[in-house]
Amino acid sequence: MNLSVRKSILYLLFIVFISTTLFPWSGHEAMTYYIIQDLPNIDKNVFITEYTYEEERQYNLEYLSLTDVAGKREFFCPIGDGVFPPDPPAVDDSLPVWQILTIYSPEPDNGMDEGLDLHPLQGLIGNSQGVRHMRYKIGFLKLFEGDKSFLYFVELSKQAFEKNDEYWGYRFLARALHYIEDLSQPYHNAPGSFFEIIGTAFNRNISRKLNNAHYFMDDYLVYLLYYSDNTAKEVILGAKSAFFDNYEDYVQEMMDYSLSKFSLIHSEIKALFGESLNDYVTIEQIRKMDEEGKLSKLKEETLSVLSYSSSIIKGFLIDFLESVGQI
Ligand SMILES: [Zn+2]
Repeated sequence: MNLSVRKSILYLLFIVFISTTLFPWSGHEAMTYYIIQDLPNIDKNVFITEYTYEEERQYNLEYLSLTDVAGKREFFCPIGDGVFPPDPPAVDDSLPVWQILTIYSPEPDNGMDEGLDLHPLQGLIGNSQGVRHMRYKIGFLKLFEGDKSFLYFVELSKQAFEKNDEYWGYRFLARALHYIEDLSQPYHNAPGSFFEIIGTAFNRNISRKLNNAHYFMDDYLVYLLYYSDNTAKEVILGAKSAFFDNYEDYVQEMMDYSLSKFSLIHSEIKALFGESLNDYVTIEQIRKMDEEGKLSKLKEETLSVLSYSSSIIKGFLIDFLESVGQI
């Protein structure tokens, strides 16, 4: 494909993103809480320390939090149940490892990556958060930095542990978990089929449907974690660790697997909702469809993504925490 054709396609692709707003694969706190349950030492208490880091990344300082927020459920998903997972206040200025990983894993969706200048074509995207939380692979095109975000915070976490700052070691690690969890969401790896993406240039309705399909998938995980039966919980708890050679391979495997499930999941969502994707699908609608038995195929596919994603993240955590001497 010659350069001008590539540029035209790239331009068309970016038209899709104009209407894009926030895209959180919601429920990070619950997903993380279950993933870390079989890690050794998660009850170890860690003393809260001040932030003392010089970073390469810029953030939206209005939303970046550098103080401890334990006990406030500060970053928890707004459509969660308000009870789970637990978030007790700090005791003697210390927090257990499980709590640091849990409460800070949703933090990057709180606005720290919004409103920044991250990409030359960002004016067309209108949202820098997507640049850091997604990584599209569409044919030969690879766009955005979700994988780099994961690796960035793995490195920062390593640096914190090297200077014996366990609190920030775990807090940065929680952010790393956020980005690799985001990449387990199929819609963080592709916005739609190739022809749909091209179609968005001519029909804004397609773009709206793709966005709503993405939102639906984000919220469907919340439904499975908070409001459905215990299957999602059991799938995560039962996932066996999967190991890879290096941190790049962990995140690559996550992206490859999630993308390999994209067509199936996307087709099923379109078959289930059709024209209803013109509107946002609420949790209540999801519950109704589930009760009518219409979501069984989607549930099976989503649980398989959740299972293997949990395996990858468990393997990564064991590898990483061993390398920094925490387990
Ligand atoms: Zn995110």
